[in-house]
Formats: sequence, C-alpha cells, structure tokens
Amino acid sequence: MTVVLDAAQEEFRTQVCALLCEESAREAVAECRRLPAGEEPGLMDLHRRLGERGWLAPNWSRRHGGIDATAVEKAIVSEELIRHGVPDNVHTLGVDIVGLAVHRHGTEAQKDRLLPPLARGEATASVLFSEPDAGSDLGALQTRAEPDGDGWRLRGRKWYSMKSHIADIALCAARTSDSSAQYHGITLFLVPLQSLGVMMRPMWNLTDERFLDVVLDGIRVSRDDVLGEVDDGWQVINQVLALERTGVDSAARAARLLDAVLRHAAKTGQLEDPAYAQRLLDLDARVRASQLLAWRCVANLRDGVPNQVHSAIAKWHSTEVFKELAALAIEVSGLPGTLDARDEAALADGIFESACRDAPGLTLAAGTSEIMLYVIAGSGLGLLS
Ligand SMILES: Cc1cc2nc3c(=O)[nH]c(=O)nc-3n(C[C@H](O)[C@H](O)[C@H](O)COP(=O)(O)OP(=O)(O)OC[C@H]3O[C@@H](n4cnc5c(N)ncnc54)[C@H](O)[C@@H]3O)c2cc1C
Repeated sequence: MTVVLDAAQEEFRTQVCALLCEESAREAVAECRRLPAGEEPGLMDLHRRLGERGWLAPNWSRRHGGIDATAVEKAIVSEELIRHGVPDNVHTLGVDIVGLAVHRHGTEAQKDRLLPPLARGEATASVLFSEPDAGSDLGALQTRAEPDGDGWRLRGRKWYSMKSHIADIALCAARTSDSSAQYHGITLFLVPLQSLGVMMRPMWNLTDERFLDVVLDGIRVSRDDVLGEVDDGWQVINQVLALERTGVDSAARAARLLDAVLRHAAKTGQLEDPAYAQRLLDLDARVRASQLLAWRCVANLRDGVPNQVHSAIAKWHSTEVFKELAALAIEVSGLPGTLDARDEAALADGIFESACRDAPGLTLAAGTSEIMLYVIAGSGLGLLS
C-alpha cells in the first residue's frame, strides 16, 4: 500500500522544499555540520521560519500552531528536512514525541500552554525515559516521584537524553507507586528543565549528537505537570512510541545516503562493476521497500488506525537497511569516505563518514531492533503466546 499525494499535498512539498533550498537555510545547515551538536543557532532560526508557517506540526490545529492538515503533510515535512540535510532531532523530540504525547493525552490547558510554542519552533522539548538500569525495559525504572503536599518531588538519574541542555520542557517517566504489576505505578511528568534541582552533564558518544546525563534532585512538579493519569504512564509511553515509529525519518535518511553512494559510484565507474552493481541494486530495492513500509504507517495514521506491528516492521527495516548501506558507503568510497564534514577533502559533505557513526544508534533509539522483532513476533505473528 502506498499514499498517492493529491495536488495540494504535492504543492505543499514544493513549498517546503523551496524554503529549505533558500540560501540562508542552506547556510544554516552547512554551519550545523561544522558546529558541535547543541550549538545550532541557525538551525533554530530555520525551525522558527517553518514554524511561523505552521509547517513544523502541520497536522495540529491552527489554535495549536498547525494548519489543520494530516499525517501525510507531517510526513512530507519530515522527509524534506532529511532530504535537505537538516538535523531533525529537535523536530522529532519536540513535535513527534513530546508534542504528540501532549496532543493525544494532555488536558486542554496543557495543549494551549505547550503546543503552540513547540509548533512555532519557539520552544524545544526532550525525553527523560532511559536510566542506567532501565532502557528497553522501562518497567525497571527507579526515578521516584515522592509526594510533597499537593504535588511531588522527582529524584533519580536519567541518561542518553538528547537536547535536554537546550530544551524548555522534558517528558519524564517516574515511579509514583510500588505495584506488584510491573508496569503499573509509572507516571509521566512534563518537567520544566530550566529549574532548580535539575543537573546535567554531557555524555560523549560516537555521533555528533551529545547525550545528557540528567540528575533530578528534588525538582518540584504539580498535578498540572502530569500527562495522562497518575500511575498509568506506561500506556501513554507505548502508544506514543508506536505512533512516532513510522520509519519515515530513517527511510528518508537511507534514501539520501543511497543517492550519495550512487552518485559517487557513477563518478568512479563502480556502477559498472558487477561486484558493486548487484549489491547497490539490492539495497536500492530495500530502501524503496523501507519507504513503502513507512508510508503504510503514515496512511494508518491518516486513517486513524495506527498499527504497532506495522510501525515495528517499518522501524526495524529502515534502520537495519541504513546500517548495511552505511557500511557499503565506506567500502565504495574508500579512505576519502572516512573524512568528516569539517575536512575540506571530505566526500559528499562527509555524509558517508557520519552515516557510519549514526547507523548503530538508529537501530537502538526509540526501541531497539530486537524489541521491534519481539513486537513483530509476538503481536504480529502470535509466535510468543
Ligand atoms: C541515538 C539515541 C538517542 C536516544 N535518545 C534518548 C532520549 O532522548 N531519551 C531517552 O530517555 N533515551 C534515549 N535513548 C536511549 C534509548 O531509548 C535506549 O538506548 C534504548 O531504549 C535501549 O536501552 P539500553 O541502551 O539501556 O539497552 P538495553 O535495554 O540494556 O539493551 C541492551 C541490548 O539487549 C537487547 N535486549 C534488551 N531486552 C531484550 C529482550 N527482551 N529481548 C531481546 N533482546 C533484548 C537490546 O536490543 C540491546 O541490543 C537514545 C538512544 C540512542 C541510541
């Protein structure tokens, strides 16, 4: 199944593309490649320019900063950002995860307060789920929300959090009660990050993106900061992650990388070499399959029938294809392909080198490949009952 764009949606894509092709946008993107992650002033300007047109979250209502469009327009924006090389973590975290969670589970007051600034690119958000002893299995999380008058105080340690150092709010999972049922007793809080009681330090890693190690040392939150029901955050987490995992971003990333590999192989004559040609052809087919699987999820969302198995298939397929393609990119490009974007001699703006560093993380973030296979085997094929 695929989604056929109507004339208005094609026109929407053309307009988004035109904005991202403007010289100032291209300069902001080029500057990002040279700066350490998190120091992205040009990028935030670009987000605001998209946001003032309602394009960051086009599927939200006008009241909340969107343009009353559908999941299709939202997917078009995600694809175009990646196609033009715009780092998309701010958008993914603010709109696709935290914004989506507030949109679906927030009170009217929370939506009015939080969604418009996120949609306009004036505020950013981050996610505080993972902990030193809780990753795939968030049921093991140990951050506690201790009762304090009519609210709570959060105590615990979160890590692998992206963008928390520039974010205004974070969606944080904490334990509000001990329960014999493992997944009961977890509550989601919308935590104002620039508050006393929040301490952060960077965790360096393979990619240009920095993770944050965040200590919550008694920060106070109130009933107004609870997203959904107290003790019932597990349902929200699962629903939001399944909706967010359309695979659109990773399939678009794979398509962009494949395009660069094919251009390089055409230039060097490797396209004519049977040893490479067959593998490139195979990966080309699999990238297209990733795009179709991703757009099946978009169609599900547009039609109001999200499907967590389709999401798991799309996420698993696109990120695993990207990983394979990244390895082939280095093989095809050789030593010059290992130069990063800051090096003037880098090939294709360093895309081959950065793909190699990004690929492993893509298969881990928002649910690892093994967990996706677990969902497919259990809920999709009924093999685990
Ligand atoms: C790029 C990136 C960005 C991230 N951003 C954020 C963020 O902003 N906020 C945040 O809170 N977290 C973030 N994370 C953390 C991410 O959610 C976790 O890395 C992920 O959930 C896996 O948890 P873990 O690293 O603790 O690994 P573990 O859960 O310990 O897993 C280790 C290995 O065991 C496998 N495994 C685990 N359980 C099973 C099982 N039941 N069956 C089979 N295999 C299993 C896993 O697949 C994995 O290979 C990010 C991670 C990455 C890579």
